[in-house]
This record gives sequence, C-alpha cells and structure tokens, in this order.
Amino acid sequence: MSTITVPEGNPITPDLIETRAPSKLPAGHSVSPDHNLTPQTMCPAFGSLRVLTRIDGVQTAMVTDTGCLYGLTFVTHFYAARKSIAAPAFGTKELVAGNVAEAAIASCIEASKMPGTKLVAAISLCVAETAGLTEEMLPKQINGVDVILVRVPAYAIHSHPEAKDVAINALLKRYAPAQAEVAEDGVERPLTYDGSNEEEEALRRKVIMLGEVFPADPISVDAVLKRLGSGLAATLPSRNLDDYKLARRVGAIAAVHPFYGGSVATLRAAGVPIISGAPVGPEASYNWIKAIAAALKLDADLAERVAAEERDKCKAVINQFSLNGRVMVCGYEGNELLYARLLVEAGAEVPYISTSIQKSLYTAADEAWLKARGTREIVYQKTLEQDVRALDRYKPDLVLGTTPLSAEAKQRGIPGMYYTNMLSVRPLFLSAGLAGTIQLIRDALERAPRYAWMREFFEGPRPPESAPAPINTMD
Ligand code: SF4
Repeated sequence: MSTITVPEGNPITPDLIETRAPSKLPAGHSVSPDHNLTPQTMCPAFGSLRVLTRIDGVQTAMVTDTGCLYGLTFVTHFYAARKSIAAPAFGTKELVAGNVAEAAIASCIEASKMPGTKLVAAISLCVAETAGLTEEMLPKQINGVDVILVRVPAYAIHSHPEAKDVAINALLKRYAPAQAEVAEDGVERPLTYDGSNEEEEALRRKVIMLGEVFPADPISVDAVLKRLGSGLAATLPSRNLDDYKLARRVGAIAAVHPFYGGSVATLRAAGVPIISGAPVGPEASYNWIKAIAAALKLDADLAERVAAEERDKCKAVINQFSLNGRVMVCGYEGNELLYARLLVEAGAEVPYISTSIQKSLYTAADEAWLKARGTREIVYQKTLEQDVRALDRYKPDLVLGTTPLSAEAKQRGIPGMYYTNMLSVRPLFLSAGLAGTIQLIRDALERAPRYAWMREFFEGPRPPESAPAPINTMD
C-alpha cells in the first residue's frame, strides 16, 4: 500500500482513503459484477436533438455549458443532423451573473435568423436548468419564428428515448393543443377537429403512428390500414413540421413505443383516442389491427378478416423460420419489450430483458405478457453490471445488447449483436417485419460454433462447464 501524506488537520486520513485492498475483476469480466456503476443511456439531450434536428425548418438552440455542447454537437452530427446547432455563449461568467435567460434569448435570436427557419427549439440542459430558466421569459415568437422550450436535464429525464418524448410533447403542445367546445348540454368536451368538411372527415378515419420506426414499417402498416378503409396520416417523429399539426385531427394515435407518456397525455387531453402496443408477431398484430378498427369505428367483420389474415401470415413465417435458443435482449432504445415478444412468439426463450427507460403504464401489458411466457427478469433503467450478472446467470445462446455487453458476450464465445445498429435499423411490424427480424436472429444463433472457435483460438480450450440449467418457469 502506498504512503499518503495528509496535511495536518485534514480530517481525511489514509485509513479513510484506503480502506480495502485493490480487488481483481473475476475471470472473463470487463466490469465488476458487484457494482452498478455503468448506466446504459446517452446524455438525454441527444434524444431531443435527434428528433428536432431532423425536422425541416427547425433550428435548435442549445442552452448549456460548453462542455456538454462539444459532446452533443459531435454525437448529433454523427447520428442525426445535417444542420448546425446554435448555442449561446454560456459559461461560468453568465451563470454567476444570472444571465441564463438573456443568453438563451440571444441564442434563439441568432437561430431565428438562419435561412428557412420556421421554429426555434431552445434545448435547456443540466447546467441551465440548475441555474433556472423561466419559460415565461422566452418569447413565443422571434422575428415571426415560433420558439419552444425543451427541458431535458439528466437529473429529471433519465434516458435518451424519454427525451424524444419531451421534444415531441413540446411540439404537440404548441401545434396540437387541446381545444374544448361546450356542447348543447352545457358540458365542455375536447374538440378533436376544427369543422365538418371532407378533408377533416377523411383525416378522422386515419391514424398517426407515434414512435421512431424503420421506414419500411409505416409502408406495411399503411397497406394493412388501407384494407380496413383507413390509412396512416403520418408517423411521429416526422421530418415535416405540419405532421405534428395533424395529431389532434386524426381518428386515433397508435403509440407503438412505450416511452411517449407525455405526448400521449397531451393528445389524450385533446380528445384523440390512443392505442398502445405494437403489431409484433401473430398475436399482437391480430389484436392491434382489431383495436385500431374499434377505435376508428370501422367495419368489424372486415377488421376480423384482415387481422386473421395477418396473424396467419405471421404464423406461416414462424413455421418456416422458428427460433430455438436462449436469447437476452438488452438494448437502450426503449423498444426492447417489443423485440422480446416477437422472439418469444417465434419460439425463443427470453429469460432476461433490460432497457434504459423507466417502468410505466405503457410497459405493463408487454411485461405481463412476457412474464406469463417464461421471462424471469425485466430491468428498467439498467446498468451494464446488471446485464453482466444476467450473462453469468442465464448463459444465453445469443445476446442482443449494447456495445460493451455484446463485446463481453463475444469474449465468452457467445454470439453478441449490437442492438441499436443491427435490430433497430430493420423493419419489425406485421408479417413483413417479422420475416426479416427472425431470419437475422436465426442466422446469429447458428453462428454460435464460430464464436466458440474464436474464443478457443485466442484463449485455449475452456475447462468443462456444466450445461445451462433449464429455467423453471413455474416457480
Ligand atoms: S451535464 Fe447533462 S446535458 Fe451535459 S452532457 Fe452531461 S447529462 Fe448531458
């Protein structure tokens, strides 16, 4: 143990500093499974930036410390934007002087001058939120350009998917606010459309899908909805600002991801029916189509026929490519329960699922469905160490994980795929999405011998290990 010299009178003594001997990581581990030190989400601001920087005519203005700005500028350009991010000169000087609002307004003015700007989104992050930025101090318009405030400090918004909801909700509150009408009986009711003309009536038979999905999914969903006499009016987040203005006027919102609670509350208050859950796998696809038809008051017999046909198509795909193996689903996108449902329906065993989002009313149905079919643990707001402990415990045949977890799995000779790049970038919904996804998973499961060979090539033969214990789903 090295000697530490502590100045006289300092209450921190060497005993306090070095209370334990340095410990070693257990063999085969890159993080200590005894701690929970590695959260698995990006800075939440990224979620808002990703949504907002992709909308035509929206200019973001970051109200944040320079340090955050460097990292977020990089990650935003890497993943999302084709435009620059305006930011106020915001540092210790402005903070100490209490000039947060002035700096934010200056930034919004600059952003409003960018050619083609229709909306400036002031994104207020940890430092500015801690210092205090009063919403009323930001003008609602500058130079004829709308201004909204998007608050995403990490101490309140714990994951980047949930920050997407904050951004969309801010847009909906501005462009699809609740409006009430007083009916003849004197009762105030939400006004869900502005008049009674053909265009409004056509919109009221359509659906907006709420959830960032692969571009092929809206096409297959629209095709099925059209068979019911409906159709997709838009998918949010959208690149088109006008799509957010439609949200109060359509017949229903299909919230296909479970982390849009704020946006759903805003639209519910505006009187728009909400359908939660997503068309993944035979059972969920069947139920989802029927729920949409019921919300839109469409022909029930036709809905039954279309839903049953789609369910049968999904079953035919599964019969051709059924899965056999134990899979861990550990992403940070917030849509992990949907993928797990699909894998379970296709025959896989999914004992453990983890995600970066929090448990909510909107995760409850999928959680109950999965737990009734053998899933042992669903971890919300997870850390890497929790996933590693699950890797030790469940000994899966395949890991769909974050980058470090997939690396950890591969080191042990277990196939591992990066969830975000491999799964979230391909279709998932209805029979078309199902076919592509389960073929990918099947191929990955079949590559297991190669991973085992690679591990052995670098590390030598492994000592004999007992086979993974079957999971008793009855206890
Ligand atoms: S301080 Fe907050 S806003 Fe800045 S990078 Fe960290 S989490 Fe993001």
